[in-house]
Amino acid sequence: MMNKIMMKTPLVEMDGDEMTRILWQMIKDELLLPFVDLKTEYYDLGLPERERTGDQVTVDSALATKKYGVAVKCATITPNKQRVEEYNLSQMWKSPNGTIRAILDGTVFRAPILIDSIRPAVRNWKKPITIARHAYGDIYKATEYRVPAQGKAELVFTDKEGKETFRETIYDFECAGVLQGSYNKDDSIRSFAHSCFQYALNTKQDLWFSTKDTISKQYDQTFKLIFQEIYDEEYKAAFEEAGITYFYTLIDDAVARVIRSEGGFIWACKNYDGDVMSDMVSTAFGSLAMMTSVLVSPDGNYEYEAAHGTVTRHYYRYLKGEDTSTNPIATIYAWSGALRKRGELDGLADLVSFADALEGACIDTLEQGIMTKDLVGLVVEGTKTTAVNSRDFIGAIRRNLEARLA
Ligand code: NAP
Ligand code: MG
Repeated sequence: MMNKIMMKTPLVEMDGDEMTRILWQMIKDELLLPFVDLKTEYYDLGLPERERTGDQVTVDSALATKKYGVAVKCATITPNKQRVEEYNLSQMWKSPNGTIRAILDGTVFRAPILIDSIRPAVRNWKKPITIARHAYGDIYKATEYRVPAQGKAELVFTDKEGKETFRETIYDFECAGVLQGSYNKDDSIRSFAHSCFQYALNTKQDLWFSTKDTISKQYDQTFKLIFQEIYDEEYKAAFEEAGITYFYTLIDDAVARVIRSEGGFIWACKNYDGDVMSDMVSTAFGSLAMMTSVLVSPDGNYEYEAAHGTVTRHYYRYLKGEDTSTNPIATIYAWSGALRKRGELDGLADLVSFADALEGACIDTLEQGIMTKDLVGLVVEGTKTTAVNSRDFIGAIRRNLEARLA
């Protein structure tokens, strides 16, 4: 029996719900505990425990992430009306991801996992494209209403002494229409910029940023200027040393360049652009089940997770005793990402190599044609595949992992 790989600082472990909670345990039992002397500080973010603690457990897990610096999170249910009934909840608890992001003040980076037998819809994409979405403000926090009839709409700003400092006509309506007021904050844009520059340095990838500053001469221009100022003052030297670049361009030019590119860079987007582009990019790369996600705070805390949800439809089948073929890859990569980061921070080369071996074993398994059902339909014609259930798939990954570690 080989010696287990030792850890120093614990990972913050955030357990979750439904099918991903089942996978979580399988991954730990089969792929982690036999090889690593796993140290975690465990927080159960499953909906029953959030209900029992009045959602305090979510807040505590975020604070622990601030303390230790690295977390790994399972997908969790964001309750809606139907879930309130299903779980007999006392309130419609907020999205755990929203709560954690608010406490860490972070930016989410999403990147696809690529394998040779699944070709992106865009032929020339050879490396992952990571999307960074500024998840604050803009239309997501806008005030808006329908204008019922003729009348004048104005944009007014009153300072804290109560003095009106700006008043501008937005439009003199001659008929009914719509109106929207949106905002953002320098502080939030600064945090976004820091997270992006840090993540680019961390992963040694170029950073692209795009807005529509030629049209939005104050709003979008502010984003552009803040990024440039922070880059020049705090990151330029480090970027040059790392051999990576920061590149600003208009969003429409960025779209054209992204499509023509080979991939292998980070694309930072404003809130709405990131919402739309991340869905487009993930679909073009293949599957949500192969999309990783990491929340990076401006002061360098990391929370790793899969981009997909709790896969409810599979869970209901699992509860009925039916065989399920749910893809655990993105959840395994959340663990490998967190273990690698922990290893880097604690100077544990063995832990870093283990994370590499675990990801390698996933790729080996897929390249052997062993995969979950969701991927079988995506591979290029002529690829020999064997569709397996989640348990057998994780078993196959374990054999490849043992081979790599031997
Ligand atoms: P979902 O869990 O991502 O699943 C949507 C569909 O995508 C599944 O039914 C399945 O399609 C496919 N899919 C997703 N992940 C897969 C995987 N690993 N392997 C195989 N197929 C996969 O999204 P949802 O059904 O909209 O949401 C379910 C719950 O997750 C909700 O309660 C939501 O609040 C929560 N959620 C949480 C997070 C998070 O914690 N970060 C994110 C999103 C959603 P087929 O059924 O066709 O096989
Ligand atoms: Mg979206």
